[in-house]
Amino acid sequence: MSTIFSKIINKEILANIVYEDDLVLAFKDITPQAPIHIIIIPKVTDLKTLNDINEKHITVLGHIVFVAIKIAKSEGISENGYRIVMNCNADGGQSIFHIHLHLLGGREMNWPPG
Ligand code: 5GP
Repeated sequence: MSTIFSKIINKEILANIVYEDDLVLAFKDITPQAPIHIIIIPKVTDLKTLNDINEKHITVLGHIVFVAIKIAKSEGISENGYRIVMNCNADGGQSIFHIHLHLLGGREMNWPPG
């Protein structure tokens, strides 16, 4: 599976990377929906959607949530609050089929979401 996110992992296309380790990569969304909008992805490329997750992915999934929280703190949005979103398939609004987590903050969020 190759998506634009694989190309970002492989540094074939540029992204504004804010965090990287062996398991995950985090970078600014190209079309931000909030003052802070960061995408966090696992580096494994066998996860197109949340539906592909099985027990062997639990560690990496926990890790992307942990990294999102660390970034929220470093970006200074943890006290006011933020939102973490993972879209799945068409009704969920997923457009890139490499699972990813959105970290959104820096403004008050609406509920229910659109
Ligand atoms: P989805 O709709 O799949 O949940 O989210 C995909 C996100 O990836 C969108 O918010 C979109 O703006 C972002 N995105 C798509 N292509 C690129 C890209 O080339 N670079 C970056 N940094 N973000 C991208």
